[in-house]
Amino acid sequence: MNESLLRPAARLADVPASKIRVIFDRAHELEDQGVHIYHLEIGRPDFDTPALIKRATVKALDAGAVHYASNWGIPELRNAIAAKLGRDNGLTYAPADEIVVTIGANEAVWIAMMAYLDPGDEVIIPVPAWPHYAQCVRLAGGVPVFLQLREGDGWRIDPEALGRAITPRTRMVILCTPQNPTGAVLDQPRLEAIAAKLQGTNAIALSDEIYEHLIYDGVRHVSPASLPGMRERTLLVSGFAKAYAMDGWRLGYLAGPRELVKWALRVHQYTTVCAPTFEQYGAAAALDGLQDDRERMVAEFARRRRAILDLLGAQDVLRYSPAEGAFYFWVTYPESAPPASELAMGVLEEQHVAVVPGTAFDETQEHGLRIAYSAPLEDVTEGIRRLVDYVRRHTKN
Ligand code: PLP
Repeated sequence: MNESLLRPAARLADVPASKIRVIFDRAHELEDQGVHIYHLEIGRPDFDTPALIKRATVKALDAGAVHYASNWGIPELRNAIAAKLGRDNGLTYAPADEIVVTIGANEAVWIAMMAYLDPGDEVIIPVPAWPHYAQCVRLAGGVPVFLQLREGDGWRIDPEALGRAITPRTRMVILCTPQNPTGAVLDQPRLEAIAAKLQGTNAIALSDEIYEHLIYDGVRHVSPASLPGMRERTLLVSGFAKAYAMDGWRLGYLAGPRELVKWALRVHQYTTVCAPTFEQYGAAAALDGLQDDRERMVAEFARRRRAILDLLGAQDVLRYSPAEGAFYFWVTYPESAPPASELAMGVLEEQHVAVVPGTAFDETQEHGLRIAYSAPLEDVTEGIRRLVDYVRRHTKN
């Protein structure tokens, strides 16, 4: 074996394989053996993409929308995104040069980081967090700086702690509301306090709002870019995966002031070129059409969330927060029970319940787990009953 031939680039040295996948892959192995798995690990809707979206896509495909689109995306979709951002978020972005359609929200995150991180630039990531942020920062040559979220704050950013974490090297701060994996939502007063800490710095706010429509109990989503002084420093990331059940379509977008979006487009131009053309017609139909399908899916998530709150309220081994958004609960459990990766594998093997260990989102969360409720209600409730029972049996008094 020629070692030099096989040597990966140095930038990969600190980029581990995904811990979510370990559980996912084992769950599928068991499923292939005929075992019924309670899938509480999957971060995607369990619904089909609404028919209206599929129809518009098929129509575009039949009409020959099979060639490269503009690097920015088709005008119809950029117009629909601009209209949506105005209608839902009170934001004004020019479809011509302030919105780029990307290959999922993932690509929007990636091109923002590639455009703005120089070697050694720091990116503040509130953790536990979606693991892609830290790994994309590393791949782009930056340095992730983890800001520990606390159970006592409901896993929301403490603006004072954020202020202390900002240094002259801070180039970017990740804001994710509603948040993966905790379901926490940042309200307006908290966002205003965060905005105040960013004033006068060189930090770009990378605002991931992919879960904005998955929000419950009358809580309102506030877009950080809509706050005074924030538009000029915010790159807004969103996509169609969660609210429209389009995760496999790989469509998202990046919006921001033209001076910032311009360099992200440069990265996009030489990497993915454009998002799939015919699919973009489907996404435009999703935004332009009646939102009944989306609301039906959100109502079902809300029903599951209620049932989980009832279950969690009636037990005493898992601690939890209300999780006002997304489709996740973040739970912590006693330190006398096994650490999260061991416990997650144990409950999968013995009880056939798949959950993600907290360490996938934050190395220090040895006794945390993410529960996703993107599975049928009966599976979610039975899975949680089994999990509670397993943790209780493995906790030493
Ligand atoms: N942002 C967050 C916070 C997520 O949790 C996810 C997926 O799990 C994404 C972005 C990815 O979105 P997409 O599938 O559009 O790339």
